[in-house]
Amino acid sequence: MTDRSAPDREKEFAIFNHLESEVRCYARSFPVVFARARGAQLFARDGTAYLDFLMGCSSLNYGHNPTEMKSALADYIASDGITHSLDLYTEAKESFLREFHKTILSPRQLDYIVQFPGPTGANAVEAALKLARKITGRPNIIAFTNGFHGVSLGALSCTGSRYHRAAAGQLLGGVTRLPYDGYLGSAVDTADYLDHLLSDPSSGVDAPAAVIVETVQGEGGLNVAGTAWLRKVAGIARGHGALLIVDDIQAGVGRTDAFFSFEAAGLRPDIVTMAKSISGYGLPMALVLIDRNLDRWEPGEHNGTFRGNCHAFVTARAALEHFWRTDSLAAAVEEKGNLLKTRLDQIAEKYDPGRASAKGRGMMRGIDLKSGEVAGQVVRNAFQKGLIVETAGPKDEVVKCLPPLVIGQGQLSQGLDILEDAIDSVIGSAVNATSVRGES
Ligand SMILES: *Cc1c(COP(=O)(O)O)cnc(C)c1O
Repeated sequence: MTDRSAPDREKEFAIFNHLESEVRCYARSFPVVFARARGAQLFARDGTAYLDFLMGCSSLNYGHNPTEMKSALADYIASDGITHSLDLYTEAKESFLREFHKTILSPRQLDYIVQFPGPTGANAVEAALKLARKITGRPNIIAFTNGFHGVSLGALSCTGSRYHRAAAGQLLGGVTRLPYDGYLGSAVDTADYLDHLLSDPSSGVDAPAAVIVETVQGEGGLNVAGTAWLRKVAGIARGHGALLIVDDIQAGVGRTDAFFSFEAAGLRPDIVTMAKSISGYGLPMALVLIDRNLDRWEPGEHNGTFRGNCHAFVTARAALEHFWRTDSLAAAVEEKGNLLKTRLDQIAEKYDPGRASAKGRGMMRGIDLKSGEVAGQVVRNAFQKGLIVETAGPKDEVVKCLPPLVIGQGQLSQGLDILEDAIDSVIGSAVNATSVRGES
């Protein structure tokens, strides 16, 4: 990174500081002006290259500007393909649906109806909640501690973060919060607690319309739900007449290896929400997958002007065709996920478990540094060294690595080297040398 004087920096960010709302967030962690991006790299205006382990919070699973999708999109635009279409039938949507059916749903024997809500994850969650309430006639939803489901009011009521919830400025109702897997330590099975509450007519928790769950909590700090727990929760929901909604917005589209993050647990959710990487190119697009027997929507009941983003249909189709017709990407994610785990374990093991521990699943992993302040310093230090990586967790204490799924092993190792250096310089210098373990 080039050294710039304070007045230079002020000049560089002048229009942002003058005109853009204080609500901006990621820009504060990475104060440069970015100009281009390719694969696993972002390039600042001055040409400095950064390895990107944030990847639009898992919206760019195939990297920045992936060739296959870029050329499909460029061809489509050059031929005057329709850009905006409300929810009209278009060839772009037709091709996407055909590919999604053939490549994703059919081989998995999933009989889902596809709903196109507004193009954000939050809107997919809103649609899922509304539909579950409509079908069951029940107002209550079960959501879990540390869950993140978006920041529009309905989705926000399911989100755990106090910071985000406070911004609502009003009561967020209709949700009962229960402990996620492992929230109360490994000795307590929180699924049993859920079952107990729902089975006791005097527990104070009414039969819910749905249980909404992430298989791996992305924003919540890379908490991984166990297979047995997920299956149990699915069974409990069914047993109590509630729908199971899996929010696969961050963990889906191959991030944990299979296309859906719930495949490993053998779940069949009633409703699945998808967004982030589904377009394959970082374009806005969201889906709600609904069990065929549960598509109780009336025409236009959940509406929105931007439900037919044809550019996203084109890139999403190209991504499915290119990456999901075979198992090779899932296999590569499994392999690189193991590499990531090994390296993160090695880094964490240099320190006392009270200072660092690795966590996560697939290529959605990170290091819990037990302190938001320390994790923040690591993020800033890594950025100085050329790596973009962000924090997650209730206190922003987990440094979260979301490299592109298609990253080469060289770049993956390079990014992890930088992360290790950053952690060593932040905690290594703070820790008494005698407590640093594993040094030969
Ligand atoms: C990002 C995210 C959302 C919200 O998506 P937006 O597009 O930001 O509205 C919902 N659920 C999960 C699990 C997410 O990671």
